[in-house]
Amino acid sequence: MTPAPSNVAALLVQARQRLDAADADLLLAHVLGRSRTWLLVHADDAIAADDAARYEALVERRISGEPVAYLTGSRGFWTLDLAVTPATLVPRPETELLVELALARIPVDVELRIADLGTGSGAIALAIAKERPRAHLLATDASEAALEVARGNAKRNGIGNVEFRQGDWFAPLSGETFDLIASNPPYIALGDPHLSEGDLRFEPPSALSSGVDGLDAIRSIVRHAPAHLCTGGWLLLEHGWGQGEAVRVLLREAGFVEIATERDLEGRDRVTLG
Ligand code: GLN
Repeated sequence: MTPAPSNVAALLVQARQRLDAADADLLLAHVLGRSRTWLLVHADDAIAADDAARYEALVERRISGEPVAYLTGSRGFWTLDLAVTPATLVPRPETELLVELALARIPVDVELRIADLGTGSGAIALAIAKERPRAHLLATDASEAALEVARGNAKRNGIGNVEFRQGDWFAPLSGETFDLIASNPPYIALGDPHLSEGDLRFEPPSALSSGVDGLDAIRSIVRHAPAHLCTGGWLLLEHGWGQGEAVRVLLREAGFVEIATERDLEGRDRVTLG
């Protein structure tokens, strides 16, 4: 038997000099089919040459900017393990704020109807559906490829109370009304330099940007939402940290009341509701 070229600790030390430590761990755990905790306990374990080579290839791709979730094929969101592909945005921790705010408005034992527009990987709809098994969720997305990922995520997490439909925002909903409508739509301004930096270069443009000021999708959702909300229903929208005032104005103009903007963990405006 030829001696193994390296062990877990040596590979991680090298990789952590070249990329974020958490990413280095996630990628090695993925290659070995183990958890990150396993790596800590098995620091001295030898690594087979082909595993080391596969790891090196992923490290290179991460350094060139590919999101770590696309390389491992999954991302934790809320209490879910979600498959993600380049057809979907990578779910962000900020979006868990939207889920929390939604859950605070959905009683546990009532059969409410809830919509998630632009569901992507299904993150928002599936997190709400898991916490509120009696609610009926409807999740839409313009991208059939994204919906396929989202349907797979419902199965993967054993969640049955979400229906998925293809189409733009409210287009697949006909005359239905909801007690709560949530969306994390694209909200980056076209031409924003961030779109050509880092992980964003690899994510679907249609999930990221929307019009010259980034607000096209939000304007469209706010305009059509009143026709799809029950009396007393809620609309919750994630947006960029500079957009709180603009989104509050849009909601006011559309006749919403009790309008408020909530901040994320970094203290930035992130979700506006009414
Ligand atoms: N709703 C999904 C998420 O929050 C996708 C959002 C998007 O693609 N803009 O991750």
